[in-house]
Amino acid sequence: MHVIVLGAGIAGSLIAQKLARKSSYQITLIDQAVGPATQTSDHQLALVHPQVNKKSTKLQRFTQIANRLVWQNFQSSIRYSGVYQPILKEDWINSEKLSELILTLGFNQSEIEPIESKIALEKFNIDQPGLWFNTAGIYDLKKLSTQAVETLTHHEMMWGEKVTRIQKNNNLWELFNDKNEKICTGDALVLACNYQTKELLATIDVELPLRPVRGQLSRFLIPKDSEVGKHLPWSAMRGDGYCSPSKEWDAETWLWEVGSSYDEDIDDLRPSKESANTNQKKGLALLGMVERPELSFREESNFVGIRSASKDRLPLIGPVTGQRGLFLATAYGSRGLIWATLGAELIHAYLDTFLAGADFLAAGFLTGAFAGEDLTALEAELSSAVSPSRFLAGALGARASNSKPTFPSGFKAR
Ligand SMILES: Cc1cc2nc3c(=O)[nH]c(=O)nc-3n(C[C@H](O)[C@H](O)[C@H](O)COP(=O)(O)OP(=O)(O)OC[C@H]3O[C@@H](n4cnc5c(N)ncnc54)[C@H](O)[C@@H]3O)c2cc1C
Repeated sequence: MHVIVLGAGIAGSLIAQKLARKSSYQITLIDQAVGPATQTSDHQLALVHPQVNKKSTKLQRFTQIANRLVWQNFQSSIRYSGVYQPILKEDWINSEKLSELILTLGFNQSEIEPIESKIALEKFNIDQPGLWFNTAGIYDLKKLSTQAVETLTHHEMMWGEKVTRIQKNNNLWELFNDKNEKICTGDALVLACNYQTKELLATIDVELPLRPVRGQLSRFLIPKDSEVGKHLPWSAMRGDGYCSPSKEWDAETWLWEVGSSYDEDIDDLRPSKESANTNQKKGLALLGMVERPELSFREESNFVGIRSASKDRLPLIGPVTGQRGLFLATAYGSRGLIWATLGAELIHAYLDTFLAGADFLAAGFLTGAFAGEDLTALEAELSSAVSPSRFLAGALGARASNSKPTFPSGFKAR
């Protein structure tokens, strides 16, 4: 089966890499740029961690399993391993109670460890108690995408090809450029082109409720002998925002990276002072410090990118209702690597189903990565929670009334 993957950011690259491991697929990876990860995935400071709440939630379970997969598979592009999340002293319950809670949530002790403030000060230079996420980390998405694309040696790559229109013809998906030339034809098409997925779907009359969310990450230069300089962390941290550990810039200065702004419905890629100020505030809050006029950071540079997000902030991964052979892998929001990892597994499972001519997704696509664990219920939850049909079924119902609905987001246990 010839599968076209459109978009060589982290979403498309990991899908293409996953499919390429099977001889049943001939892949063509297409991107408008000259190489992988030149847009939002040109991001070298992507935090990955499991979500933790007091009660078990769907998101907690998805991020937990994805974090384990990322940790297992992507060590080669990790920049900082381990992440510290401070907890306000007034919200802190003792370490034993927290350890128990963490175990009841299904984490093991090697994944998350409660830390008292005295130890946090010694280990991370942070005088606040908190949680140490031992298997969380900060990853380089550009490196990861590039490595994934490098594995596609027996497959086709088309760089510098902007697709402006798609159509279905004789059961095949056809892609066209702005001169209306057909540039590629395949049995299945995976749209992994972030926010631009919306425009391409509009060319086949499918409306996708997708929003752009601009984000800016700031690289600050902080004098070592300043008040902030003395309190910078020695590990990556997260809270309302996240940061890298401080890194030596020169003899007098630290480099400190802090993110990120979350600017909904904005797609302007120019760095802004306002976003840098937001990041400064987030950085100080992580250190337990309050903003004051004299604590002004010097910007070294910024990374700005456009995320895409759905209405419920969960991604869109799976088949498009009524468009047999068309799949989406987008709306990854601020959890690019978490969803790209699960997205690669899910799209692979959907394509296997498609190839077999079956109607239902078979269980077992995650279990393979975690031998001995029964993840069937989680797989069913995941596929329906992220299925594009949650937004498309109703919208398409009337328009597609005389076309047979194919590929329901149904699910069948093996
Ligand atoms: C400031 C900021 C901070 C973030 N922090 C984190 C974080 O801490 N952790 C984390 O996991 N994620 C984080 N993210 C999110 C993460 O970066 C994104 O979710 C992820 O990079 C999206 O990947 P993608 O492959 O979907 O999109 P992209 O990387 O944008 O890839 C889409 C690709 O499709 C191509 N394309 C689009 N349209 C067409 C077309 N018509 N024809 C041909 N090619 C096309 C583009 O050229 C591009 O290469 C952050 C994002 C930002 C902006």
